Amino acid sequence: SSALTVGELADKIGRNASEIIKLLFMMGNMVTINSTLDDETIELVCMEFNVEVHKEIIIEESDFEEQMDVEEDASLLTERPPVITIMGHVDHGKTTLLDTIRKAHVTEGEFGGITQHIGAYQVSVKGKKVTFLDTPGHEAFTAMRARGAKVTDVVIIVVAADDGVMPQTKEAIDHAKAAGVPVIVAVNKIDKAEANIDRIMSEMSDNGLMPEEWGGNTIFTKISAKVGTGVPELLETILVLSEVEDFRANPNKMASGTVIEAKLDKGRGPVATLLIQNGTLHAGDAVVVGTSFGRVRKMVDDHGRELKQAGPSSPVEIIGLNSVPVAGDIFKAFDSEKKARQIAETRLNKRIEQERSVSSALTLDDLARQI
Ligand code: GDP
Ligand code: MG
Repeated sequence: SSALTVGELADKIGRNASEIIKLLFMMGNMVTINSTLDDETIELVCMEFNVEVHKEIIIEESDFEEQMDVEEDASLLTERPPVITIMGHVDHGKTTLLDTIRKAHVTEGEFGGITQHIGAYQVSVKGKKVTFLDTPGHEAFTAMRARGAKVTDVVIIVVAADDGVMPQTKEAIDHAKAAGVPVIVAVNKIDKAEANIDRIMSEMSDNGLMPEEWGGNTIFTKISAKVGTGVPELLETILVLSEVEDFRANPNKMASGTVIEAKLDKGRGPVATLLIQNGTLHAGDAVVVGTSFGRVRKMVDDHGRELKQAGPSSPVEIIGLNSVPVAGDIFKAFDSEKKARQIAETRLNKRIEQERSVSSALTLDDLARQI
């Protein structure tokens, strides 16, 4: 693989070469603007500038890799499951829809298995896996977006046919637009006598989402999340859309992705649900998660089953981190625990420094106000 110089990398990630030089110096690595960096150091630098890591390593992974491995790149990518988020106004049926899908698509051997709430789950539809994010509402999504995380491939907007387009429906539309991801509208509660599907289609059109059947380009499905009507068609639609969008990743590299949720468990310590977005995570891998680090001591799926490895688009719950990360934090696996520790510590110091400068600014502000 061909390496980049400090100057070239700086251009590529939109930073000053001096920032990279300073960073590497802090890590005990003396370089100049013309020094050539190996892949490992490039990764390390990108990891440091977290938003850029995301852009370069996750969103523009193929672009970034092209720089290093021109020929192999596309051939390294293989199909991965789509990652879906269900949004919509409160009481319009998001939870019911998730439950119905989950109950209808437990695969054999999973029957009777206790489903764990880990904030995300995967189902099998016609032999294809689909990942659903089960984040508690729009706040989590907003928080992740604010941290630069792009976690969802498709947004399903649920609108109750007996109600109408409500404030959180509009919010969901805005989220999907801002994220630049395709939308599937699910007009829900069509089993109800008061259901008025045309009204929903008209109100959604007023908000920029015109149904295909009206000459627009938004896919609408009509469902009853409670009864199950139309849900198979909705899942079919997800598969077709995924086929068209052709979601891909490289399973044969160290894993990277985003924290979906995290908590401190009394017995187990820090527990984090990770969405693996690229690469494969293995039990025992060294990981940096935000400013936390550790080894993947144990990894389980949404049924609590222990996994030795998990590939792109898999949601997994891991233990083994030294502190609790934050939803939206980016994680990356490394081949050495020493490196993981070093990166996490540098990131932590930087975060502390940032917080300190923010709080001293506040203090000055307070002083000014008192005068
Ligand atoms: P959420 O707030 O969007 O998660 O909405 P819920 O899934 O909690 O649903 C709110 C209420 O609507 C619950 O009482 C559900 O049973 C009911 N509900 C959801 N989907 C349907 C449906 O398709 N038909 C009917 N009749 N009721 C539904
Ligand atoms: Mg709910």
